[in-house]
Amino acid sequence: MIYSNKHKKMARGQQKIQSQQKAAERAAKLKKPTSQLKSAGAALIYCCTVCKATMPDPKTYKQHFENKHPKSPLPEEIKGI
Ligand SMILES: [Zn+2]
Repeated sequence: MIYSNKHKKMARGQQKIQSQQKAAERAAKLKKPTSQLKSAGAALIYCCTVCKATMPDPKTYKQHFENKHPKSPLPEEIKGI
C-alpha cells in the first residue's frame, strides 16, 4: 500500500511537471507573434513625405498615402507597388 501511494504521488508530480511544460510551450507559442510584431514595429522605415507618419512596409505606406493624401503625388518608392 505504501508503495502504491508513493507511486501515485510520483505520477501526479510528473503530470504536474508535464502540464507545466505544456503551459510553458503554449505561452512561448503565444508570445511569438507579439514579439514579431514588436520587432516589426521597431523598424519603421517608411516615413510619409506629407504628414511624417511612419509605416513598417511599403504596402501600408501606399494604403496610407491613398487614403490620407489622395491629392498628393505618390512618392517614388511606392509607385511600383
Ligand atoms: Zn501621411
